[in-house]
Amino acid sequence: AWVDFVTFFNHIIDRFEMTKERQIIFKRVFPDKAVFVQIDEDKLTQVIDNIISNALKYSPEGGKVTFRLKLLDDMIEISISDQGLGIPKENLEKVFERFYRVDKARTRRLGGTGLGLAIAKEMIGAHGGDIWARSVEGKGTTIIFTLPYDPEQEDDWS
Ligand code: ATP
Ligand code: MG
Repeated sequence: AWVDFVTFFNHIIDRFEMTKERQIIFKRVFPDKAVFVQIDEDKLTQVIDNIISNALKYSPEGGKVTFRLKLLDDMIEISISDQGLGIPKENLEKVFERFYRVDKARTRRLGGTGLGLAIAKEMIGAHGGDIWARSVEGKGTTIIFTLPYDPEQEDDWS
């Protein structure tokens, strides 16, 4: 379906912000207009839920999670950044593999099966987008994904 990604994303973030149990600061950097994209809302909700859950899981108390939405020529770029422990450089691509989890000891405590990002990769790929991770160990992690976007489409909605 065609959805305004800003509204869609805000709803997901609101749900996490209302139910969060720890002191984490949420920051949103979005364009101040609607951005229509064609997506499977259920699948994208699952993808974003996992990325936000990960960000919260690895955030320190008082940490900031930043949500960004950027318009590129024919893509939108969505990123979710945390100030958690980060992912070692050599594992940045592996975290998108099934059942892969960095450091068994630290992640056993925090739970999970290691499927979330593998599913995200599959679903973003099915939407014609791409997903990757950037991280500085000890500083934080950013998960970035793109989705096809047709700026021409704007005209039909205005
Ligand atoms: P599941 O999502 O299936 O419950 P999971 O969260 O462990 O389990 P993924 O979401 O696929 O699995 O993430 C894979 C691994 O990548 C995690 O176990 C963790 O080691 C690492 N990881 C993912 N996101 C972050 C993050 N924001 N900060 C630090 N490490 C992360
Ligand atoms: Mg996960």
